Parts: sequence; structure tokens; C-alpha cells
Amino acid sequence: GETIMEIRNASVSFDMERGDSRVLDSVDLDVHRNEVLGVVGESGSGKSMLASALLDAIVDPGVLTGDVTYYPKNETPVDVLDLDKQELKEFRWEQVSMVFQGAMSSFNPVRKISTHFIETLNAHDYNVEEGMERAQQLLRDLYLDPERVLDAYPHELSGGMKQRALIALSLILEPEVLVMDEPTAALDLLMQRSIISLLQQIQERYDLTIVFITHDLPLIADLTDRIAVMYAFEVAELGPTEEMLERPAHPYTRLLLKSTPNLESPIDEMQPVEGSAPDPVNVPTGCSFHPRCPLADDTCKMNDPEAYNVDATHHVHCHHWEESADAIPMTESSTS
Ligand code: SF4
Ligand code: MG
Repeated sequence: GETIMEIRNASVSFDMERGDSRVLDSVDLDVHRNEVLGVVGESGSGKSMLASALLDAIVDPGVLTGDVTYYPKNETPVDVLDLDKQELKEFRWEQVSMVFQGAMSSFNPVRKISTHFIETLNAHDYNVEEGMERAQQLLRDLYLDPERVLDAYPHELSGGMKQRALIALSLILEPEVLVMDEPTAALDLLMQRSIISLLQQIQERYDLTIVFITHDLPLIADLTDRIAVMYAFEVAELGPTEEMLERPAHPYTRLLLKSTPNLESPIDEMQPVEGSAPDPVNVPTGCSFHPRCPLADDTCKMNDPEAYNVDATHHVHCHHWEESADAIPMTESSTS
């Protein structure tokens, strides 16, 4: 597909007392226009950093280097890391919008939901009347009663309603891209699934591009067109969702999927992949997965694997990906 956002050689480091901490390590990634891209990884894999990098929203004292480019339709590409404060403020709501982790608590408790919409419209010099009509439509599209929700204070809404109101708010200035970081993590499984199916409808109705960050691979199997699996602050594997589920090539992806009894199982029934996530101050040499990988050899310990092409759309950072299917069969009966 056509590229709407491009990340090249993006790294984020923090200066910590224990040493230099790399929480995003030379990531290359393209986001395609109108796709839903899932970014999956365990906590501390760098996936939230990747989300923040897309909006140049890395929190101090983190330092982001590399290139992030946004390609608006029929307009000059935007060098995101080159935007000044004012440009960035506009970019973040009007081009690429973000629903942060734990963002439900970002509603001001003493202000009605409507006030949040009005203030956002005012801050960006948007016509409030038109904007509030759009707000009503968005809320209706998310199966909320606009009158009731806009007139409510945050605490008067359930978690699921608040989350949907927040999605409506993030779309109020008509962004092309919506970046969501674990947007459903605080909700029960049923509500998570219903938000996912609402997102599917919203994505089609508004021609959105969605980047959905999560630790829960099964949750996004139906929603996403492609999935990127992150491990140790890098993208380990990227491909079309079906490929990733049926022919995962990276040992970590295979172990991650194997730890999921089936795609309908709730996340808390998953067995975690053995071993622990690497320390950002002390990332293993070579392939950072080698201490946990059943296929690791001396090559892996010494050389950081570049991207290998499984095919034109499926890429994997592993020296031995061609052997991974035999070494880590997905089911007992599986032979390939
Ligand atoms: Fe395992 Fe080596 Fe592949 Fe890394 S490069 S995932 S250690 S086989
Ligand atoms: Mg590396």
C-alpha cells in the first residue's frame, strides 16, 4: 500500500545513572494509508516509545533521533521531527492523533465532556458549532447518546463509555491517522472486543489509518491488516496479519503465538514466553533475543540480524528464520 508515515532509523535513549538506556533501537517502519497496523510486544519492548515517536511525543529526558515523515494526500511530505511547537500541536490533533495509555483519566474530572470538545476546537481555531455537530455524529457512530454524554461529567460515564468518548475526542479535528496505545487495557474482555469492532467500523467510515499498540496479540487478530512484533526495542518481525499468524518466522513470534492457547482465549490464560525481557541499559549483544531463543548459536550472539525477506511483504530479523518452523512447531501435530 501507499505510505502515510515512514520511520527511519528511529532511536530513543535516556541518560540513566546506571548508563545509557536505549528504549527504541534503530527502528524502520512504514505505515500504509488506510491500514490498521498492530504493534505487539511485551511490556518494556519499546512499543509505547514507537507510538510516541510517530508524534514526536517522547517525554523528557528521552532523546529521539532518526527520521519520521508524514505523507499527507497531495501535499508536501512533513518532516515530523523538524516541526516547531505550534506546528507540532496542530499536527498532533489535525493529522495524527493519539489515544495514550491510561488516557481515560485524562478527562478533567470537574469539566463536562462537552467542555473537552469545545476547548479542543477553540484551541485549534475550529468552528465550534460545526465541530460539535461532528462530535455528535462521532458519538452516535460509537453507539453513544450524544446529548447525554456531552452533558455528563467524566465520573458519570462507565469505563467503556469514557473510552468511546475519548476516541470521539481524538477524531474531532479530522486526523488521518489515529495512534492508540493499549486503549482497551483497562476494560473487561467483552468491552475490549466491542471497542475493537467499533474501531473497525470507524476506520472504514472515516478512511482512517490506525496504529494499534498492544501486548494482546489475539485481541487484534481480526482488526489488523498487518502486525509488527517488537522485541527489545526493535521490530523483530513484520507482515500481513494472516502470514504472521499462520507462518510466523521469528522464534519469538512463534513462542508468543504458542503461548496463546487459541485466539479466542483471554490474555490471562496465556503462558508467558520463558525468560525475562532485556534490561534497556544492558541489551544482549548480537541478536537481543539470543538468551531466550532455542535456536541461538554463536552467530546470533555476535551479529545483530538485519531484516530478511520471507517474501515481499513479510520481513524478519533472524539469522535462522528458515529453521524456526521445524525447531518451534506451532502445534504438537504440526510438521512444517
Ligand atoms: Fe534466535 Fe538467532 Fe534468530 Fe535471534 S537470530 S531469533 S537468537 S535464531
Ligand atoms: Mg539492534
